[in-house]
Amino acid sequence: MKARAKSSVSSSRAVSSAKRAAAAPIEEGLFALLGEHGHEQVSFASDADSGYRGIIAVHNTLLGPSLGGTRYWHYANAGEAIRDVLRLSRAMTYKAAVAGLDLGGGKSVIIGDPDTAQREPIFRAHGRHVEYLGGRYITAEDVGTSPADMEMVRRETRHVAGLPGKSGDPSPVTALGVYRGMKACARHRWGSDDLAGKAVAVQGVGHVGYHLCQHLHQEGATLIVTDVVDEKVQRVVRDFGATAVAPDEIYTARADIFAPCALGACINDTTIRQLKVEIVAGGANNQLAEERHGDQLEERGVTYAPDYVINGGGLINVNAELAGWSPERAHRKAEEIYDTILRVLAIAREEHIPSYRAADRLAERRLADAAARKRKVPGT
Ligand code: NAD
Repeated sequence: MKARAKSSVSSSRAVSSAKRAAAAPIEEGLFALLGEHGHEQVSFASDADSGYRGIIAVHNTLLGPSLGGTRYWHYANAGEAIRDVLRLSRAMTYKAAVAGLDLGGGKSVIIGDPDTAQREPIFRAHGRHVEYLGGRYITAEDVGTSPADMEMVRRETRHVAGLPGKSGDPSPVTALGVYRGMKACARHRWGSDDLAGKAVAVQGVGHVGYHLCQHLHQEGATLIVTDVVDEKVQRVVRDFGATAVAPDEIYTARADIFAPCALGACINDTTIRQLKVEIVAGGANNQLAEERHGDQLEERGVTYAPDYVINGGGLINVNAELAGWSPERAHRKAEEIYDTILRVLAIAREEHIPSYRAADRLAERRLADAAARKRKVPGT
């Protein structure tokens, strides 16, 4: 039998008091990190046979079990991995809350070479680690992991989503949500959500970008597109009559809307000055290089659809798999992103704050309501 992964933070009773005293500075640092953003639990596990080293962070389970993918990355050290998993798990709480899902926020990271060929023992050890948490955390694929890896996790736990042949490629649902969120921005900005005749500059025409272009083309929008892979650009030029530009020309394109669908940190000190658009609305994660770039978009009068609100369709798709929703129900939920973006922009206007902060407020209100309900019903 394989050695079982040992959960070191959650099974801290195993640590003798003498050892605990010796390790006090590290432990205090860890608890301070957990306390900083209100994380509920962090579990560390290692498996000597496979070399697995994994961390699971459960940020918040007020709305339901925490859900978030498994990131496999060659972190320089454990500290880097801890910071990443804490940051990412917290972001999942906010994403699930604004999407109106009964899910909390969690995330896991595996420290190592994401291209390793020895995947089965690693992912089975990870599966056992997930299983130890007894359903408080549900995992799925993320950077460095695939549905096939999740299949191996599934051999050890049922608390896993995004399996091959289940909810499938989330990008059509994500793109639908982005399209609906973009229309909401148009309505907020121009009084009409009709995108016919509007020019949209799409950065990255991979999975999400391609499907987004399809919706926009059907509505009569003009497309300006770029990608670092020429075949992908040619496909949207051919299928939707898009105009291609070089990757570094997309920011200066004369367009009404900029739709980042490729990389994070695309709104930064350099690009923010180049943009000529009135709306930024796209599917990419972590679009703002730093929060202050969200403030700067506001100062420049650009309507910004906060990334984690507008790209919530991927999470909705995973939730559909867990909850047994039909594809139609998942689509209807993704369409609600229209109303959520309108609500976020209304909060921003009423409270004189940038939209990315308004999104956080909306999430925090839902969490506060859930906490209040819990206090009223003892034992829940
Ligand atoms: P993808 O890899 O299919 O597409 C990204 C595209 O961007 C690729 O075609 C790539 O060649 C291109 N690209 C990379 N660097 C570029 C550059 N410098 N300039 C122009 N193009 C560049 O990924 P995806 O699934 O379409 O996801 C796109 C973004 O949306 C990512 O940030 C992802 O994290 C986010 N997202 C995706 C989903 C989903 O359902 N797939 C859900 C939520 C968020």
